[in-house]
Amino acid sequence: MDLIIYISIFITGTVFGSFFTLAVYRIPRKEDIVYVRSHCTSCNHELGFFDLIPIFSYIFLGGRCRYCKEKIRIRYLLLEVFSGLVFLAIALTRNVIDNIVDLSFIYLFIAGMFIIAGIDKENYTIPNGLCLYEIIIALTYNIVFRTAIIDKLIGFIVIPLIFYIIDKALFLLNKDEKKIPIGYGDIKYVAIIGLMFGFSFQILSIALSTIITLIGLIIHKYKEIPWGYYISISSIILIIFLPYLNEIIDLIRIWG
Ligand SMILES: [Zn+2]
Repeated sequence: MDLIIYISIFITGTVFGSFFTLAVYRIPRKEDIVYVRSHCTSCNHELGFFDLIPIFSYIFLGGRCRYCKEKIRIRYLLLEVFSGLVFLAIALTRNVIDNIVDLSFIYLFIAGMFIIAGIDKENYTIPNGLCLYEIIIALTYNIVFRTAIIDKLIGFIVIPLIFYIIDKALFLLNKDEKKIPIGYGDIKYVAIIGLMFGFSFQILSIALSTIITLIGLIIHKYKEIPWGYYISISSIILIIFLPYLNEIIDLIRIWG
């Protein structure tokens, strides 16, 4: 029984994974992500059901488009496997049966984080539509589970406000280069993480993302720092291990 549940969760993760690729490609181009059928980005041929089965389509088609035989990038396959594994890892660190509603909210929220990560890394921006989607999930989650609201509000308002003030101050000091040090998209995203998981989680996520960003800066050459991308990575790592972090969370949690 448990095995069937875990396999289903992994498959759900891979289905989400193939949607992420599409969303990351289409959202910045303002293309429809729900009604327009998928098509090959090389020959534009509309893709059928059997071209769209995560992982299996890639393997059976030998990593090529069925119609034009153009190579499909391996990273699509890797992303599908990776999101399947992330979904599975989150289920494995929790009691799935007792937490199925809780988990569903987390999966829907994480889906948004994956897409935000991809778009921020490629385009250095976080679309407002995605922020709105995450806010709706977070608000519904807080209402359904009647979570400690003070913790969430501090995460949603106070911490982003501090970032905003630091941002403004740095902007005023740095007269030669009129560029905002931290993008407003990133600040909005930090606020949303706070609304969903609370202030304590948010502080951990900011700390971890700072470490990962520094590592990322050594590996990649960026025009700007896609901090939203790194916040997504750090938050997803923390969400997986969240059930083991309660003591640290309680230590940081001063409010409610
Ligand atoms: Zn093709």
